Amino acid sequence: MATTHAALGVLPALVVLPFDPALAVTSAYAGYAGGVFPDLDLYLEHRKTLHHPELYPALATLAALVALAYPTPVSVAVACFLVSAALHCLTEVLGGGLGRKPWISDDHRGVYSHLGQRWLPPRRVIPYDGSPRDLALCVIVTVPLLFVFDVRVRWLLLGGLGISVLYTVFRKRLADWV
Ligand SMILES: [Zn+2]
Repeated sequence: MATTHAALGVLPALVVLPFDPALAVTSAYAGYAGGVFPDLDLYLEHRKTLHHPELYPALATLAALVALAYPTPVSVAVACFLVSAALHCLTEVLGGGLGRKPWISDDHRGVYSHLGQRWLPPRRVIPYDGSPRDLALCVIVTVPLLFVFDVRVRWLLLGGLGISVLYTVFRKRLADWV
């Protein structure tokens, strides 16, 4: 789910933390946003329009090199945003399919490869978005981060975790309501 991607997206900011704690907060926000960003295509062609498993990693590598050479708040934030978006698109394939009830495993679209012009099949390590395993991953990533970052990032992470719990509880009922 988007909130798990967002929590994972904060991880790149850990690299910045030992060097500049203030910049690490900005990086955490940028990473969180980058983790959510690809899923803004939910009402377009989901997992295709804004999901680019080849383009984001290439852009993220470039942005990381620029940030290393010229470390400014903007260059570091852009790098964290893109690394997080890349992480989102690369890990998407580990989830379930795109069907309305993905726990049925009736859909074979994991994420779209624009380079290969085909859908990469879902691996279902995380069976579907909002599954208990998805929530467990979200908790495992979020809880340690709560002890690392200051109160502003903590609230963002806790808010995401709250939404994740609600989404997981109502996930199957949501499919019927929609
Ligand atoms: Zn996604």
